[in-house]
Amino acid sequence: MPPPSRRTNILEPLADTRADRTPPTIETIAVLGAGTMGHGIAQVAAMSGYRVILRDVDREILGRGVRAIENNLAKGIARGKVSEAERDETLQRIRGATTLEEAREVDLFIEAVPERMELKQQLLHEVEQTTVRPFIFATNTSSLSITEIARQSARPAHVVGMHFFNPVHLMRLIEIIVGARTSAETAEAVRQVGRRMRKEPITVRDVPGFASSRLGVALGLEAMRMLEQDVASAKDIDTAMELGYNHPMGPLRLTDHVGLDVRLSIAEYLYRTLGAENFRPPDILRRLVGEGKLGRKSGEGFYQWEDE
Ligand code: NAD
Repeated sequence: MPPPSRRTNILEPLADTRADRTPPTIETIAVLGAGTMGHGIAQVAAMSGYRVILRDVDREILGRGVRAIENNLAKGIARGKVSEAERDETLQRIRGATTLEEAREVDLFIEAVPERMELKQQLLHEVEQTTVRPFIFATNTSSLSITEIARQSARPAHVVGMHFFNPVHLMRLIEIIVGARTSAETAEAVRQVGRRMRKEPITVRDVPGFASSRLGVALGLEAMRMLEQDVASAKDIDTAMELGYNHPMGPLRLTDHVGLDVRLSIAEYLYRTLGAENFRPPDILRRLVGEGKLGRKSGEGFYQWEDE
């Protein structure tokens, strides 16, 4: 079969390519939210052969997400990691959407909307009202309880955590979080999706912060307190971890990549649920978020960012 031609408008309807491939259990994925994480998840899903609907309520963010995917693929080509045909096929598999109705016939939803419990619960409710066939609902939450997100769900056995890492196309870990009512089949289905995306899945019980956020956030908040106490500059604190502990990126730079608002929400949640003083959000984090300094996505956080 000839490779599909490159579509110029990502909002055009998708050609149905189902019959062209051996049917896996999950063939179509809707990614809800096209921000920092959503566009990356959509990219790796499409690169792994899934048909993808990328939905954001904000058309401008949706456009930005699509452009970010195109940029990532262009960089991949420049580095010799992605072929032009792969780029074209990847883009061909993605369709942008602003309404949930356009995603009503998918097998797997992966939500990457802001880290707020009521928003995620509401979204799951809307999905249950809108969809026309059985589906798995995976949340990319960094810390919120999967069991709680599924509390009012009619199908809690099909709700699970799929925690990706930023930037999604480069990071190999995927944390699969099993809620109190998640079925073994659901967990296994999303582990398989993760493997097909060439990620290494780990399975974690549904406890606040799971494995990765609890450790990562503790380190990041401590680095912020050290900055507040004038122990060293942001760059030197980061260098301590990069060169002293072989971390590929220091905790403050990493916070800029994650988004300070995202980190603040997680810290608040962990402080509330675990009650440990080390999760109390430092003043500097609240102040920067209050000033709109959200890290790389806003152009400034602990560092200045000029590329975005
Ligand atoms: P973001 O703010 O960059 O993007 C969220 C997007 O969701 C926005 O574009 C917003 O317009 C959209 N949105 C809001 N309501 C929506 C709805 N009902 N339907 C569709 N889209 C909607 O946030 P992010 O950093 O991508 O984080 C998303 C989730 O992923 C959060 O739960 C976060 O904790 C988690 N996460 C983030 C990171 C990270 O590094 N940023 C890493 C792992 C997990």
